[in-house]
Amino acid sequence: MDSIKQDIKSMYLEELESKLTEDGYEKYRAAQIYKWLKKGVKNFSYMHNISKKLSAYLDNNYYISVLNIEKKLKSEYDDTVKYLFRLYDDKYVEAVVMKYKHGYSMCISTQVGCKMNCSFCATGKQGFGRNLTAGEMLTQIQVAQNDLEIRISNVVLMGMGEPLDNYDNVVRFLKLASSEYALGIGMRHISLSTCGLSDKIYSLADLKLQLTLSVSLHAPNDKIRNEIMPINKKYNVSSLIKACKYYIKKTNRRISFEYTMIEGVNDTVSCAKELSRLLSGMICHVNLIPVNQIKDTEYIRSSNKKIQQFIDELAKHNIVATKRRTLGSDIDASCGQLRQKFYEEKK
Ligand code: SAH
Repeated sequence: MDSIKQDIKSMYLEELESKLTEDGYEKYRAAQIYKWLKKGVKNFSYMHNISKKLSAYLDNNYYISVLNIEKKLKSEYDDTVKYLFRLYDDKYVEAVVMKYKHGYSMCISTQVGCKMNCSFCATGKQGFGRNLTAGEMLTQIQVAQNDLEIRISNVVLMGMGEPLDNYDNVVRFLKLASSEYALGIGMRHISLSTCGLSDKIYSLADLKLQLTLSVSLHAPNDKIRNEIMPINKKYNVSSLIKACKYYIKKTNRRISFEYTMIEGVNDTVSCAKELSRLLSGMICHVNLIPVNQIKDTEYIRSSNKKIQQFIDELAKHNIVATKRRTLGSDIDASCGQLRQKFYEEKK
C-alpha cells in the first residue's frame, strides 16, 4: 500500500468535494463516489458512471480500505457470528454480529491490539499493533452487511482496542457512520466503551454527540482497580467519576458502567455498597458481566448467587443493574479470544 495515498472511506463528503473541485472535477462526483463506496466496491474502476480520467486520478491519490474474512464462526446456540478480519498489512482484528429482537448489532474493533493491558482481557495480552483508520472501522460493518445480507442497526465500539486512545479516528468514524452517505446508523444506535481515559471523556462530552457511553469500571475503589486495570494509575476512580459526571451534564445521556464479576476480586456485597456510594445521584445503569475465563489468568466468574446479591444490594440504593446476556459463548466471542487462538494455531 502506497503510504502517500489517503484512505478515501475516512474522508467526510465535504472534504472529498473540496479536493475534487480543487483538482478540476465536478463537486457532485463526490456523492457518486460515496454511493459506490457504500455498496462496498473494492476498486475505483468499478465506478462506471465516472470518467476513466477521474478513476485514474482517484487511484493515484486514494485507496479503498478492504478487509478480508480470514475466519468466520457461527454460534450453534444463537445467531452470533464472529469474524477475524485480515487488514491490508496482514494484521488481524475481530468483530462480532449479534441478533437481537430489534435487529442486528455489531461489535467492532478500533485498534489492532491494545495498550491498556487490563489483567482479565485477552486483547491486552497480545500487545499493541496500530490504530485503525475510520475507513477500516466502517469497512468492518460493510463487509459483515454484505456477507450476511443484512443491515446492521446498532454498533458498539467494544471490540479490540481502546476507542479513546484512537480518539481522532474514532470521532471521524462516529460522524461518518451516522451520516447518510457513509452508513446512516443514527448516533443513538452507537455505543462507545472506554476503560476510562478521563481527559478524552471531557473532549467527547464537549462534542455533545448523542451516542451511549459505556465505562469499564470493574471496581469500586483504587485498590482493586489498580490491580486489574493499569490505566487507573493514570486516571484514578475519582478523576474518572468526575469526568463521567461532566459527560452526563453536557450530553444529558445516561452512562452505562460495565462491571465484570470476578470471583473473590470485586464481587462482594461490600464492593456493591461502595459502588452504590460512588454512583449515587448519577443517571446511569450498571451492566454486570461474568468474567470470561481466558488463557494465562486464574480468574473465575462469580456465581449467579453472588451476582444476584450484588444486583440486590445496588437496587437497595436505587441503582439499576442487569446481568449481561452472554451470546456466542461457544465461539470465543469475547474480546481478543479468537485472534489469540488463531496466532497460537499458526505457531
Ligand atoms: N477498551 C474498551 C473496549 C474494549 S473491551 C474498554 O475497556 O471498555 C470491551 C469490554 O469487555 C470492556 O468492558 C472490557 O473490560 C470487557 N472485557 C474484556 N475482557 C473481558 C473478559 N475476559 N471477561 C469479561 N469482560 C471482559
